[in-house]
Amino acid sequence: MTLRQIAPARGEEHGRNDEGTVRRAADACAPGSAGGMSARVLDGQALANRMQRDIKPEVAAFAARHGRPPGLAIVLVGDDPASHVYVNHKVKAGTEAGFRVDLERLPATASLSDVLALVQRLNGSAVHDGILVQSPLPKAMGAGAEQQVFDTIAVEKDVDGFSAESVGLLVQKRPKLVACTPSGVIELLDSEKIAIAGRHAVVVGRSDIVGKPMAMLLLHRDATVTICHSKTPNLAEVCRDADILVAAVGRPGLVTRDFVKPGAAVVDVGINRVTDPAIASRLYPAGHKRLALFQSKGSILVGDVHPEVEEVAGALTPVPGGVGPLTITMLMANTLKAARERVGG
Ligand code: NAP
Repeated sequence: MTLRQIAPARGEEHGRNDEGTVRRAADACAPGSAGGMSARVLDGQALANRMQRDIKPEVAAFAARHGRPPGLAIVLVGDDPASHVYVNHKVKAGTEAGFRVDLERLPATASLSDVLALVQRLNGSAVHDGILVQSPLPKAMGAGAEQQVFDTIAVEKDVDGFSAESVGLLVQKRPKLVACTPSGVIELLDSEKIAIAGRHAVVVGRSDIVGKPMAMLLLHRDATVTICHSKTPNLAEVCRDADILVAAVGRPGLVTRDFVKPGAAVVDVGINRVTDPAIASRLYPAGHKRLALFQSKGSILVGDVHPEVEEVAGALTPVPGGVGPLTITMLMANTLKAARERVGG
């Protein structure tokens, strides 16, 4: 299944690599090998396609066995245009894979108790194995509302893995359902045979949805993990010691070549829509095809890793087409897992 990338910014998760810049090289650079060459592409889109091909018959088998497909409920509150786009992607991908996907919409004027009541109802639903509440909730609900809603989702249905219980279980290394983006990164590293155990992994970003669970997953795979954030001094120097460098920051091209040890595996989680010509020109030299794309479209999607890093890294995820497509694939995988664990088989 091809999950096509469409416009808006944050979470433009399902990217195809038709804007990709990283050249495909047959050779993988081992850590410590010389720079000046083109990084191997960690092709998340290809892995996502393979995984979705594998998931489809398993969904069909579940449906045949249980008389119903695995079910996912997506709660969308309000009118945020970007959220609508992401939700449509999720509905489309899930439906195409054979899941039952129900979009439960509430108006922007809904109260926190309306959302909590809906989640409670879905917790009790026999046909919904997974529940996802699209972030962000309307600001008027208050600062703590989103986490309160996440925490209300039954742990066995928490396919985003954002509830306090899901996070706690992950930290204790007895995970149930794990956040989709970081678990997609681990799938990609594994499928590309990038060793994790015993290596130094640096995660830039400490958000609850990416940075922290990413660090936990790497730690549980026996990496030595450093977590960096906006107050980390000497960020480039810390990153330069990484064998595996994960950037989950939300700053276009923050990670430049001086952040990267030659041969390191670099995972770019960032998805940033650039509309400022000055930023586009900082990232791409005159005549570059992506700069031309920016000039013709007026915007372009970029990661947190500067494109020049491909000359230093051993392996690199492109944006789009790297981590993004795996996020929705892991949502499908989590929903299937939740269904099997709830009803067996
Ligand atoms: P977030 O909640 O805004 O967190 C960003 C993190 O980066 C924070 O921990 C922040 O540090 C840190 N940071 C910001 N500026 C920094 C700097 N100059 N130096 C070092 N650290 C800095 O963002 P998020 O939700 O984790 O998302 C991060 C990126 O991943 C975004 O581009 C987002 O669109 C993308 N994303 C992609 C997917 C996908 O499917 N590929 C999924 C989710 C997110 P402090 O904690 O100190 O503020």
